[in-house]
Amino acid sequence: MNSQNFFAVTDPSNGPFAPSGESGTPPRWDLSDLYASLDDPAIEQDFAALTSAARAFSEGWKGKLGQADGVALASAFAEYERIEEGLGRIGSFAQLGFAAHTTDPTWGRFTQGVQERITDISADLLFFSLELNRLDDEVLEKISTSPDMAKWQPFLRDLRVFRPYQLSDEVEQVLMDKSVTGRNAWNRLFDETMASLTITLDGETKPLGAAFNTLTSAEREKRAAAAEQISAVLADNSRLLTMITNTLAKDKAIGDKLRGYPRPSSSRNRGNMVEDEVVDALVSAVDEAYPRLSHRYYAMKAKWLGLEKLEHWDRNAPLPGVADTVIPWENGKEIVLNAYTGFDPELGGLVNRFLTHPWIDAEAAPGKSSGAFAHPTVPSVHPYILMNYHGRARDVMTLAHELGHGVHQILAGQKQGYLNSATPLTLAETASVFGEFC
Ligand SMILES: [Zn+2]
Repeated sequence: MNSQNFFAVTDPSNGPFAPSGESGTPPRWDLSDLYASLDDPAIEQDFAALTSAARAFSEGWKGKLGQADGVALASAFAEYERIEEGLGRIGSFAQLGFAAHTTDPTWGRFTQGVQERITDISADLLFFSLELNRLDDEVLEKISTSPDMAKWQPFLRDLRVFRPYQLSDEVEQVLMDKSVTGRNAWNRLFDETMASLTITLDGETKPLGAAFNTLTSAEREKRAAAAEQISAVLADNSRLLTMITNTLAKDKAIGDKLRGYPRPSSSRNRGNMVEDEVVDALVSAVDEAYPRLSHRYYAMKAKWLGLEKLEHWDRNAPLPGVADTVIPWENGKEIVLNAYTGFDPELGGLVNRFLTHPWIDAEAAPGKSSGAFAHPTVPSVHPYILMNYHGRARDVMTLAHELGHGVHQILAGQKQGYLNSATPLTLAETASVFGEFC
């Protein structure tokens, strides 16, 4: 890891959170609604309680789900959800802290430790979904007629989708244990590597994200320089990045082969609750539309920009006549809030909760994850949003997008609880894209 040391000296006891910026500066979030800090004693207490709860759960239920009646199974579900939500709370805290401080070894170590412990505890919980999925349809149907089980029908229905690809308990256990040093470790290496990359623009060292932002500049030379910087930095790291990508692809191929997924996209499509054929139809429709839509659009854009040929650094150039101004955070916030409130005051009220609490990490700070996401955490807390706000129109769109997720996550979590509020991407993106259109 190279030159990013901004967060390397974080003092955990002080909390790693910068206060919300002075007015105008995009805010940083405050994760203390989850835990006060990295060394909050509540983390250790929760881990201890969850460890024994998971063990007791396994002792009480393993091998017995088929004999349970609906009332008993519903109570098992409630306890399973309670433990999973507890783990989700610690896991969210670690994930979010790591995303905001990806190059900080303190957070790296903490997150790795949390992941390992959650995996250990999950070893006592794994049987629950595996055993449920092994029950015959008739047995499960009989239990499910109990009104107590009504709440868990959607969970069981979704779980059933993965039944044909489930392996033996021992193999499932090994795959879960090994993921800590396998896929998860490679993902972490990728995140840390990307967050530590820097570029030099206008004589200043900046995070890679700043170069992506410059690709939207109205000045062509600036865009070209940024593109050149991005290519150079990625080329410098190509051996490592290629190794990471190839290893993750092979890891996935091995898993897919063991489970019998027909093709690489199948597991993702199952997770999204959509059939392979539906995605095929979507892909071919988009492919067919390239000449009619995107090729024509880029040809028009080249003409508008007065260029013979569009280079790749021209793709995100603003159109002539579009003001190339920076939209301050306060204004961006207002645009989004007004849009949501104009559509529906209740929706606006929910959006306002995000904007008036430290739930959004918006400052484009060095060493943090690029891109944007809304993390639901757990229903008893609230979602958090991470983005890198540079003041471009597209950043305002991103804020609207992520708030769409955030609002959806609050409403789903409150009503459905932790397990049932998990949403496939296909549905989740409906709320966020709707937010952009607001
Ligand atoms: Zn989204």
